[in-house]
Amino acid sequence: MDFLTVPAYGKINLTLRVLERRPDGYHNLSTIFQSIALADRLTCSRHQEGLHLETTGVPVPVGPANLVYQAAYRLQTRYGFPGVKITLQKQIPPAAGLAGGSSDAAATLLAVNTLFNLGLTPGQLAREGVALGADIPFCVLGGTALGRGRGEELTLLPRVPPLWLVLVKPSFGVSTVDVYQAWDANRGWGPLEPPDEERALAAIRSGDRKKLLAALGNDLEAVTCRLYPEVTAIKLRLLAEGAERAVMCGSGPAVFGVAAGEEQARRIAARLQETYPETFVTRTL
Ligand code: ATP
Repeated sequence: MDFLTVPAYGKINLTLRVLERRPDGYHNLSTIFQSIALADRLTCSRHQEGLHLETTGVPVPVGPANLVYQAAYRLQTRYGFPGVKITLQKQIPPAAGLAGGSSDAAATLLAVNTLFNLGLTPGQLAREGVALGADIPFCVLGGTALGRGRGEELTLLPRVPPLWLVLVKPSFGVSTVDVYQAWDANRGWGPLEPPDEERALAAIRSGDRKKLLAALGNDLEAVTCRLYPEVTAIKLRLLAEGAERAVMCGSGPAVFGVAAGEEQARRIAARLQETYPETFVTRTL
């Protein structure tokens, strides 16, 4: 095999609870990760030597600042392969809470492992990934999973009832660090609709869509909404256009609205696109 093309799926958080602050300054989380069909695409081909990265689509850093480069470098230095050329077709909006960079890194680990027959298991690749980012292990495994710790301690869950989603990203990105600092400074800013993780887990196990939707929520939403009121405006627009629920992704600022089906998702997206060009119709995987 000389080259390989793989998808790098984004994620949303069906529920996200922020727990205590850790001695290392990060926060423990409890979150239900969910892969979505919106994806970047990576093509990896054998090269005599070195790491070569090209990107197309949404602009992202090139060279060592890109998580794709870091993931390839890690496998090259630890397991040895001559060289690789990677083309990243970027579609997932960066700095949106959709784990775009983490997903690209995970896809790089999977593709390089296959291309050069390195023989690492998905579990080993997830452990390689955690050194580069806490969301990467989930992106290696994909599907639906409960994440604890910084999100890297994973328990795989059954598939959720299929959900059609309208994803809306405002023109700005947010810094995850700023959001957690505001969280620490303002513990009173709880969300209006807090996540109900226990109920969500029970709903996933019983395949109960209605119960799952009622349990969705994100602790960080109130914080990001105060820092960036446009996130509230997006939530309200999604609900006004008919979404059953609208919840922020990760630390934001992207918001996902849940539609009754594909047709309604496309109708809602067409309305939102007038104001927010970065609006996508997607679904859970
Ligand atoms: P998470 O949900 O994991 O916190 P995110 O969706 O908020 O991630 P990313 O899309 O991963 O954020 O981007 C965060 C920053 O990472 C970007 O601003 C960018 O500078 C850097 N970055 C490095 N590599 C990539 C990549 N391949 N794709 C996107 N961003 C990347």
